[in-house]
Amino acid sequence: MREQQTALQAEISNHFARLIANKQLVHAYLLTGAKGIGKRELAMWIAQGIFCQENHQGQPCLVCSECQRIQNEQHPDVVMIAPQGLSIKVDQIRYLKAEFSKSGVESKRKIFIIEDAEKMTVNAANSLLKFLEEPSGEVTAFLLTSHLNQILPTIVSRCQLVEVPALTKEQLKAKLTATGNFTKNQVQLLSQLTDSEQAAQELGSKEGFSELVETLWQWFYNILRNKERSFVDVQVSIMPYVNDRQDQELILELISLLARDMMLVKYQRYEEVAFVKYLDKLEDASLHLKPEQIVNGVELVLTTPKQLKMNITLQNILEHLTLKLSECYHS
Ligand SMILES: [Zn+2]
Repeated sequence: MREQQTALQAEISNHFARLIANKQLVHAYLLTGAKGIGKRELAMWIAQGIFCQENHQGQPCLVCSECQRIQNEQHPDVVMIAPQGLSIKVDQIRYLKAEFSKSGVESKRKIFIIEDAEKMTVNAANSLLKFLEEPSGEVTAFLLTSHLNQILPTIVSRCQLVEVPALTKEQLKAKLTATGNFTKNQVQLLSQLTDSEQAAQELGSKEGFSELVETLWQWFYNILRNKERSFVDVQVSIMPYVNDRQDQELILELISLLARDMMLVKYQRYEEVAFVKYLDKLEDASLHLKPEQIVNGVELVLTTPKQLKMNITLQNILEHLTLKLSECYHS
């Protein structure tokens, strides 16, 4: 995956390579952006660029022993800190400071990377703050977070902020495909469901996810064919999948993709269709509908998250939606 780093975040990677080549790195960077978009890989790539013996204008070779040791997290001058349990504790920051006071084990330079930096306890953050205020030697810090608003302003002000952009759909699909865990159809659906690689991986690996997708399709297909059993499907087939609020939101999200797919198919924008597995049936159904019916269907579905926020039960929302959609598609 690392080899794809420059391709995935090409602009930022090139920016940092130039800083390395021109020796213009500052002491501390705060890398922000959604989960799973490669902040950690980016920080490690930069560390490799700094230590690489064969670096080409700041770009690491990725094969020399320095690059390899960083990749394997075995480089004595590149220290990684991640939450232990729910938080990053002050002892972890003390350990970091102790490591750094030794000055570079093999060189004068040291790098540290703090993952999920928002999880630092107040004590840990204050301890780090002192360190950032009196940087000793050639230290470069990378704080990573997907929750910028949870980082102490005093920390933010000591760091240069770098926003790591979200992956494009194509990049996300390539990453999901590379895991080898998902079929082509699943990759397509997950990439339409979220922008985050981590969220996509978690959803795709969630127990019962494929069955839920199949169940929702059957329910929707019954509505398209004006089958009365679609109403009963809600209680009998869909509700058993609901354990918590997240499940409820996921179901509404998937249904919104179904309604949207009808529109995409109608306008032949096939590359964005989420439920590609059922493309033939979607196409067939959309042929029999007028554009305004399809648009009305999307609008009906879009009102459902608001109903959920108003504490209407999911079963009520879906039963009501079933009737409305049937009316809409068969008027
Ligand atoms: Zn190298």
